[in-house]
Amino acid sequence: MLELQGLSKSYTRGDQALKEINLNLPAGQVLALIGPSGAGKSTLIRCVNRLVEPSAGSIRLGGKDLQTLKGQELRRVRRRMGMIFQEYALVDRLTVMENVLSGYLGYTGFWRSFLRRYPQTVVAQAFELLERVGLEDHLDKRADALSGGQRQRVGIARALLQNPELLLIDEPTASLDPKTSRQILRLIKELCRERQLAAIINIHDVQLAQLFADRILGLRNGRLVFDGKPQELNTDILTRIYGEEDWSGTNAEEDPGQQALKSSSLQSPQAYAGALSS
Ligand code: ADP
Repeated sequence: MLELQGLSKSYTRGDQALKEINLNLPAGQVLALIGPSGAGKSTLIRCVNRLVEPSAGSIRLGGKDLQTLKGQELRRVRRRMGMIFQEYALVDRLTVMENVLSGYLGYTGFWRSFLRRYPQTVVAQAFELLERVGLEDHLDKRADALSGGQRQRVGIARALLQNPELLLIDEPTASLDPKTSRQILRLIKELCRERQLAAIINIHDVQLAQLFADRILGLRNGRLVFDGKPQELNTDILTRIYGEEDWSGTNAEEDPGQQALKSSSLQSPQAYAGALSS
């Protein structure tokens, strides 16, 4: 479904952020991207969406090479990717329903969206999605009256209104408490199952990645250093991703990578994933 070949990115005034990444993501697979800060996780997601222009390599979605597409055709392909990014935050003064409907903007003309006229079928679909994410009682609330978890649910419903095949999700739980983080990731996973959606989630928390992803990619200094199942993550692999030298200098409370390393050296990843879910 999504195929990356030799994907590399060098920023003009920076290091090489991605080095020859190869990846084949089948439909319906939930992939977690883990790695230390600056490893290239956001850059990878942004290259896929073409928010960032890759320096080399190819990105194919459903067999179409994204780099050769322009204008309307590129917009059409990008619509097949739903984005749940922090900076695509909600419009605070709009209601929950209006925010979700804005996910339809890609399909509609400027004036139509400006006048906030949406086809009845789209409004019905938005309602269904809001019901699915558990916000049916908050349709008319302004976005700024919502909790962090509820805002993230609106973002999910808005992304799904586009009927995407692939979800690109950047740090979905960065500002959420642990319980809400798990609820949001569980919801994302269920929706991917129900709709056969593939997802790439940039996630800081190794434990959450292990609990909710089908597959984990570990990035370090722009290189892919691990590609496997969550249960295959062990201390050696976590060391390969996060680096041994980082352990002593950092505070376990601040660094989720190190936290995971510490926990996993005491017990197997499966055991501590089990402990988390109990
Ligand atoms: P991560 O998401 O894993 O924290 P990023 O993809 O944000 O990593 O960054 C990877 C590398 O690219 C880092 O060295 C970062 O400093 C650099 N980088 C990211 N964005 C830019 C940019 N807009 N300009 C220059 N360098 C950048």
